[in-house]
Amino acid sequence: MIRRLAWVFIALAALLLMACAHAAYTNRSQLLLISEGQEMALGLQSAQDVLKKEKESTDELQVERVKRVGRRIAFAANKPEYKWEFHVIDKDVVNAFCLPGGKVFFYTGILNLTTTNDELAAVMGHEVAHALLRHGGERMSVALMAQLGGSAASLALGSTVSPAASQAFNQAYGMGAQVGVLLPHSRSQESEADEVGMILAAKAGYEPSGALSLWRKMDAYAKSKGQNVPGFLSTHPTTTDRIAAIQAKMGAVRAKYYQQAELR
Ligand SMILES: [Zn+2]
Repeated sequence: MIRRLAWVFIALAALLLMACAHAAYTNRSQLLLISEGQEMALGLQSAQDVLKKEKESTDELQVERVKRVGRRIAFAANKPEYKWEFHVIDKDVVNAFCLPGGKVFFYTGILNLTTTNDELAAVMGHEVAHALLRHGGERMSVALMAQLGGSAASLALGSTVSPAASQAFNQAYGMGAQVGVLLPHSRSQESEADEVGMILAAKAGYEPSGALSLWRKMDAYAKSKGQNVPGFLSTHPTTTDRIAAIQAKMGAVRAKYYQQAELR
């Protein structure tokens, strides 16, 4: 009984400790029941799985374009712990994602839509922002809470990756049968990734209005597809709210970051 109480105490203490985490850039408080180190280890492992399952593009120009934009965004992200890599998967799917640890995947389908580098930078910035802000870790924490209840908190204290954490990662990142089909992010995570993504793109020297034309294009594309919107678009609904929020923040981001970008 005392042992059990001790565990409950440890769990609660860990929860309080973890609840003190704050998102980079926005300072929003986050519930994170998993360490960033574990998240990154799982990200690296999954990146290897993706590369085993999918065929990489051999179109050198296309691959170089993604790498060039990616490297600039990565520089702006200033995350030395990450081992950045940028891969293009040869598949007509409108999708892109960044795993914790810095492995980024673009599908050729989304490259056909992002015709300007400013638009490509908007997608890159958005996906990198999800990883930097540890949105996957937050979704994993929700899955762990549902799965394990209070004792989930003890996972945060360990440095090794437990089977439960691994399972939660697969849930959060959709690493099951269909690679890269993520569980939807929450609305607040989406708008946070839009804002921070726009900042990263601007810091890297890309015109922030790329985000606006990107989401307008996505909206038109989703409408043309009707009910059958594919992966990225089903988890990234382009609402008038989203476009209005991007538009509202654009001027400030341009003035603060783009006009001072060192890399142009
Ligand atoms: Zn997103």
